[in-house]
Amino acid sequence: MKTNPSAQRRNASAQPSWAATGARHLWLPYNQHKLAPAPLPVVGAKDCRIHLADGRELVDGIANWWTACHGHAHPKLVEAVQKQAAALPHVMFGGLMHEPAALLAEKLTAIAPEGLNRVFFADSGSVAVETAMKMAVQYWVNKGKVNKKKIIAFRHGYHGDTMGCMSVCDPDDGMHTTFSGYVPMQFHIDIPSDEYGFSEFDDLLSHIAPSAAAIIIEPLVQGAGGMIFHSADTLAEIHRITQKHELLLIADEIATGFGRTGSMFACNEAGITPDIMCVGKALTGGMLTLAATLATDKVFDGFLSELPGRALMQGPTYMANPIACAAALASLELFESEPRIQQVQTIEQHLWQLLSPLRNVENVKDVRVKGAIGVVELDACAVDAWDMRIRAAEMGAWLRPFGHIIYLMPPFTMPESDIAFLADVIGKLLQR
Ligand SMILES: *Cc1c(COP(=O)(O)O)cnc(C)c1O
Repeated sequence: MKTNPSAQRRNASAQPSWAATGARHLWLPYNQHKLAPAPLPVVGAKDCRIHLADGRELVDGIANWWTACHGHAHPKLVEAVQKQAAALPHVMFGGLMHEPAALLAEKLTAIAPEGLNRVFFADSGSVAVETAMKMAVQYWVNKGKVNKKKIIAFRHGYHGDTMGCMSVCDPDDGMHTTFSGYVPMQFHIDIPSDEYGFSEFDDLLSHIAPSAAAIIIEPLVQGAGGMIFHSADTLAEIHRITQKHELLLIADEIATGFGRTGSMFACNEAGITPDIMCVGKALTGGMLTLAATLATDKVFDGFLSELPGRALMQGPTYMANPIACAAALASLELFESEPRIQQVQTIEQHLWQLLSPLRNVENVKDVRVKGAIGVVELDACAVDAWDMRIRAAEMGAWLRPFGHIIYLMPPFTMPESDIAFLADVIGKLLQR
């Protein structure tokens, strides 16, 4: 079973006819179609491997865009999806409800930081973040505070690709430049650290809080904005100071949630309960798109009124899709029946051992590890992310370096031999 993927040979004639059809008609994500190589046609994915149409297998180093925490197509998840598809594949949520959503909401509130008792389902992470921002703004409007409409966001943050989400992403990234004047203006500040301390952060909040509804943060790990970490103490202090200022705290756990940082949620490590929390990505174990925005009773109660207009004005058509909810329930059961969090802690040790030696390699600026996240940061102009992706695939690894970051975010079920293989591939990528 453990054949070395790099030893496999490509069979070019095996490219399916639909690969050419797709090349003519598909518009791919973040893809410069004039320059980029064609995407790799996939015919299957199982455990930690992606099966390509040409017969090769790639070891998935990024867990299906950070979703497949149990590996691809875990039999328990496949079974849950098949059963639910046969029973009730979908029913609209406006005025109706169903068992998988009810049980999933109960389960999420039970495992989430204490006090997040309400769950609003959405169909993608970006929509969950949009929902969180609307919740925060409308919460204050419902209280008669109509000037608190801005969101405070941290530099190097990433919260999704829709308009509201883009507005709280890092202000210097490409999306802001392209869409400047179109995305809403927000406050962008630095995460407090040694140079820019908590008292400055506190002072700044005193000035901007009267026109802001909330502060949004990716707890412990800023993901797509650069894989930058901060400590649980920093997170706890941000939470404490935020509470002093009529502001809600939105924790975007879409990347960190469900064990990725070594605890079920990153907020747990700081012992905090945010007012609002977004989850997505690994919620269904990589099976289907589903996300959720959780809120405390304080936030939910802010919408209770005799006035219908004070209701939360949000309702994605496919929200709480029963098949996706069933997959999420099965995924959370796997966290109970299998030692997932322990596996993350073991992976953390392996990543440290395997990636640390790369610190001494030319052009490597930093190596850092948190839970099942291993990051190799390079000097700014040392990387051609496209070229690295292609070379990694040639060697049998599926990686997606971006900017000057190469990272691993493997499925939690990945055996040590595969992690060692991926670390070896990264080492080879750096040799040039
Ligand atoms: C991926 C991500 C999102 C967006 O989720 P989508 O499902 O892609 O819309 C939002 N926030 C964070 C932190 C993410 O990593």
